[in-house]
Amino acid sequence: MTTLNFSCLDDYDPQWLPVDRARQIMLDMLPAVTGHECLFIRQALGRVLAEDVISPVDVPAHDNSGMDGWAVRSGDLAAEGETRLSNIGTAFAGRAFAGAVGRGEAVRIMTGAMLPAGADCVVIQEVSRVEGDAVIVPAGQRAQQNIRRAGEDLRAGKPAIPAGKLLRPAELGIIASLGVAEVSVRRRVRVALFSTGDELCSIGTPLFPGAVYDSNRYTLWGMLTRLGCEVIDMGVVKDQPASLEAAFREAASGADAIITSGGVSVGEADFIKQLMQKLGEVAFWKIAMKPGRPMAFGRIQPDGGENGAWLFGLPGNPVAVMVTFYQFARPALLKLMGLDPVPEFPAFPARCVEDIKKGKGRTEFQRGILFQENGEWCVRPTGHQGSGVLSSMAAADCFIVLEHERGSVAAGEAVQVQLMTGLV
Ligand code: AMP
Ligand code: MG
Repeated sequence: MTTLNFSCLDDYDPQWLPVDRARQIMLDMLPAVTGHECLFIRQALGRVLAEDVISPVDVPAHDNSGMDGWAVRSGDLAAEGETRLSNIGTAFAGRAFAGAVGRGEAVRIMTGAMLPAGADCVVIQEVSRVEGDAVIVPAGQRAQQNIRRAGEDLRAGKPAIPAGKLLRPAELGIIASLGVAEVSVRRRVRVALFSTGDELCSIGTPLFPGAVYDSNRYTLWGMLTRLGCEVIDMGVVKDQPASLEAAFREAASGADAIITSGGVSVGEADFIKQLMQKLGEVAFWKIAMKPGRPMAFGRIQPDGGENGAWLFGLPGNPVAVMVTFYQFARPALLKLMGLDPVPEFPAFPARCVEDIKKGKGRTEFQRGILFQENGEWCVRPTGHQGSGVLSSMAAADCFIVLEHERGSVAAGEAVQVQLMTGLV
């Protein structure tokens, strides 16, 4: 059983947690899931490497030419003017030249071809000229130029990719370049998901007065799927103690993490919070941010035993769900997935072209649209920034991050933006 000691944390005030502190608390508490599986390279795309991939070979396996040209001995070349060498054959990629380059000789060489014995320099074909059986090369060549050394990319016996790396196309290529067919990756993180609220309707049922369609399960499903998690969609759960308790118990027994939306705000009936606390150890936070102030984090472990899952109780408003997912649940899930280090959101400064009103003492995540003007990256807010206005997320390609201590922004000032492209 995992015990969480929220009360022992430094600078911990659940009623007022800065964004960075809340994120750090989660990251510090979460372990990576245990359990590996062996997968063929292509199946491993998007997964996290469980063990270092040790290179069984040098890559490249032999010294070879980086250019099309002539393999020569640098010591043969005159310091000034041209040198005339005799052309004794050709080295192709995958078809080596059988002999060696002797004094006064040159071998025509293709990119990737093994460097013939005796040669220590490749002169590019563009500066050379052929005259009958001879090749004329100019002065100014250096020993070792245009040669790719054996092992310069990866060394035999050394880690080619460390455990904890996300396997992207480049990593798949590296693994293939070693002649390795299978790798050990961490198992997928299983995330159970449900929406809470008596007002929620699922698609396919008509809206009753006062009802809204449940959109959070779809945005969350999308974000989790993009992350490579296995998603268990448990549907809408009404604000009733018995249904909620059953849902939490089922989720905790089959998943590593539970993500709920709704039910953690001040206006909600307290029984949801009491229930979460009864079934595990959960902290209710008011995070100094907008949107997305209320949030629950902890563990649901109904029987106190091994069966348990991390809980991310996100607010109900559709934009707040996405913001809190990206700012908290995403890094936390990356940690559970075994990513080491957990990557930061890609962020950079851009010039804000509109005024933005903001008070100090909380971090704001406005939705923004990036564009280029006179070679400079600029950003403008998407318009109405209400936490229920999901179209502001759809229009956005970045978050404009207005830091905790920052006041209002005047048009023309630089602001930090977090790039969502590729994530959303
Ligand atoms: P709550 O955090 O439960 O108080 O919900 C805050 C607001 O978000 C309310 O207007 C809810 O109707 C809305 N909301 C909660 N859950 C969802 C959902 N799954 N899909 C769409 N809107 C939701
Ligand atoms: Mg609700």
